[in-house]
Amino acid sequence: MQTNKVIMITLDGCRYDTAIQQLGFLNHFVEKGLASRYKVLSETPSNSRPLYEVLLTGVPTYENGIYTNYTVKRSKEQSIFSLMKENKRTTAAAAYHWVSELYNRAPYSIFEDRIQHDETKNIQHGIFYSEDTYPDSHLFADAHHLIDTYQPEFMYIHSMNIDDIGHKFNGNSQEYHQAVCRVDTILGVYLPLWIEMGYQIIVTSDHGMDDFGIHGGTLPEHREVPLFIISDKCKPQISSEVVEQLQMAPLVCHLLGIGKGEKMQELKGGLFFEDEATE
Ligand SMILES: [Zn+2]
Repeated sequence: MQTNKVIMITLDGCRYDTAIQQLGFLNHFVEKGLASRYKVLSETPSNSRPLYEVLLTGVPTYENGIYTNYTVKRSKEQSIFSLMKENKRTTAAAAYHWVSELYNRAPYSIFEDRIQHDETKNIQHGIFYSEDTYPDSHLFADAHHLIDTYQPEFMYIHSMNIDDIGHKFNGNSQEYHQAVCRVDTILGVYLPLWIEMGYQIIVTSDHGMDDFGIHGGTLPEHREVPLFIISDKCKPQISSEVVEQLQMAPLVCHLLGIGKGEKMQELKGGLFFEDEATE
């Protein structure tokens, strides 16, 4: 029985076509009618820090002011974290240190901010890493520790190895495909446990990776990313409609059972749910 708890997983730099080809564990759930799958069109610029902010606030870049990867400052927008805190619910994250900078404190200090437990913060329990090569296997173990110990009602997990390998070898390389495949195996280890604990699961990506090992622009390889949803609330399907990335934050708020942020788009409930009453 699922509750209003969500684990949101962002696979940094995982493009749509490779996700369909290599995420066999997740696609098994889709094939068996236990999950739904969508293509999401990312916002622009298709870079990491701007899109972390888009995913977690639902506010476009021109308005949120997080224009580049070098914009090191706290978000000024309502986020899924801040909305959960206002609703007196628990949040946690195992993520790259830029997520800590956006929602807890900027700039990041490796001495003070790597492990955080503070219920006055937007992210109340956090384990943050600052090397792009921090192994995804260890990141997911960090996440499991937080989930198992604190049972956060909103858990954000953000992996970096796919993006890192994509930049080094390009988005159409053997190494890139292998990196996506490795994450699929890790998901196969943890997701059954988390689903058993009553979590709804979202897996998506911030942006893709082109055949030159670049993202940031407007190519389909830069902007087309996957969305998998495992939730009793959603109808299992492979959707032919492309979802705007600005829909992600209101979707997660809906699955959490909290009101969306004021600047977030209205949720296009018909895309995700059986009945339109959810809109
Ligand atoms: Zn990147």
